[in-house]
Amino acid sequence: MTTIKDLNITNKKVIIRCDFNVPIKDDKIVDDTRIKESLETIKYCLENNCKVILLSHLGRIKEKKDLEKNNLSPVARHLSKLLNKEVLFSETTRGKELENIIENMNFKDVLLIQNTRYEDLDGKKESGNDEELGKYWASLGEIFINDAFGTAHRAHASNVGIASNLPSAIGFLIEKELKALSILERPPHPFIVILGGAKVADKIGVIEKLVTKADKILIGGGMAFTFLKAKGYEIGKSILDEESIDFCKKILKDYDAKIILPKDFAVSKEYTNAQPYQEKDIENLQKDEMGLDIGSKTRKLFEENIEKASIVMWNGPLGVYEFDKYRKSTDIILKYIVENKIKTILGGGDIVAAATTAGYKEKVYHASTGGGATLEYLEGKELPGIEIIKRK
Ligand code: AMP
Repeated sequence: MTTIKDLNITNKKVIIRCDFNVPIKDDKIVDDTRIKESLETIKYCLENNCKVILLSHLGRIKEKKDLEKNNLSPVARHLSKLLNKEVLFSETTRGKELENIIENMNFKDVLLIQNTRYEDLDGKKESGNDEELGKYWASLGEIFINDAFGTAHRAHASNVGIASNLPSAIGFLIEKELKALSILERPPHPFIVILGGAKVADKIGVIEKLVTKADKILIGGGMAFTFLKAKGYEIGKSILDEESIDFCKKILKDYDAKIILPKDFAVSKEYTNAQPYQEKDIENLQKDEMGLDIGSKTRKLFEENIEKASIVMWNGPLGVYEFDKYRKSTDIILKYIVENKIKTILGGGDIVAAATTAGYKEKVYHASTGGGATLEYLEGKELPGIEIIKRK
């Protein structure tokens, strides 16, 4: 795999596909983790006297009214603060204005181009990997670096399209992701997987792949209820993924000893943060109640299982972590992992968001920046945004 260090980038116009898909409210960046994580590659290009051209998507663009809320200009301003230098911004994704800015760039200048998904408004050119668009963007630079792990599982014009037309490499962030995640291909044992989140359906591929490699899979979050239902428990009003019951039955039949399910839950009658909750064993859950977090007995059970792990892979929160009350178990298990220095990979999306707000993200072994990309990697699927570079 060609990495940025393998290419001679000195004095070149380098296009970097970043992942600046960050939450923005009132023109302010709410969480700048992804921007900070792109800095190593950008700074390396600046040290090599490059003209740095940045591309990223932000949200989805389906209709005209999506354009303003997904304008990337706040990211340019924020990046400028982080780099402590001016960051040029192009309001458009193609055309004379953009080309003029690039024409007038000096070495060590940084330009951020408007949200790549602006090109989706008229015929999904970015998401559909429009050939002409990939060629056009490639024509703006001399080298292409893909550093957006979060979109690597999609073939878009701004990753696969450009890489097809320029000498290309992965950046430091993708390199770091692949290094960490590849440990799980032949993991040291005991290898313990923690899975949470809402639906089993989204994780079927990962469960099928990891159940053969893992010593134990600890299931929490809403998805535990589909497994418990499959075992015949009354789960009340708890979230159920009806279509996955048969899958759960099969996994439980084939791998009964490996699957660890919750014993108790934080239970409420309402899906809200306002009501007090009770801790109840699964056997005592009533028809009008729902489990919104795992309970203290289950936390203990999970801790006993991860205590001696050589590596832990964790995807999905153990409760409705958006509500303060029901993020308790997710926070406690994160704390346990950090305090006991258990080598843990947090696999993308919500669990990384939970770890970030609780202040544990920097303290775990690796927090993967990709949601869907991380899951697809773990399922053993090829990631087109990376494959194209591998094959070159
Ligand atoms: P996922 O994207 O599949 O990782 O799911 C994350 C979502 O799962 C979060 O929005 C959580 O609120 C939700 N979740 C976790 N535990 C539960 C639960 N017990 N009941 C309902 N939703 C849950």
